Amino acid sequence: MRSNKRYSNQTITKRIDHEAGRHRGERAMPEPAVCEVCGNTYADRRWSRPGKAVESAKHPHFRPPHQVVCPACEAERSGIASGYVHLEGHFLTEHLDEVRHLLNNETARAAEDNPLCRIIGIDEVAGGGMTVKTTTEHLAKRLGEALESAFHGKVSYDFSHENKLAHVWWSR
Ligand SMILES: [Zn+2]
Repeated sequence: MRSNKRYSNQTITKRIDHEAGRHRGERAMPEPAVCEVCGNTYADRRWSRPGKAVESAKHPHFRPPHQVVCPACEAERSGIASGYVHLEGHFLTEHLDEVRHLLNNETARAAEDNPLCRIIGIDEVAGGGMTVKTTTEHLAKRLGEALESAFHGKVSYDFSHENKLAHVWWSR
């Protein structure tokens, strides 16, 4: 009975891990790996910013990394975003530089925690609005929060858990 229980717990843990991996848009990735586009490194099932491979080189178990393309670079290549931030309003058109500066700063800060956070494109929208496309749904949410706390305005969020897609609307 007891061993049965333990077995099923392990099964659940494994399944959650697997889905968490897919959640970040990762297929099975060999380890250690380095992105041939941006230099992000992959080890212990997580991505780090460039430079970590050099630190790992001191590690006794270091092996030369596989050359791969990280999920963020892959999203950039394909143009397939996981998050969209839709911006509009008079304040936006009058403070475009400030808003863009905030978006870039917040993205850089997010990338310190997760190097897969990236803006992959900004589309101008007729009437003065714009749509920011991000590699992760988390970054879209974070940008919405940053816009609201810096410039106030109105923000709303729409998350599709099935499709792992986030839409954020901000207007002022
Ligand atoms: Zn990359």
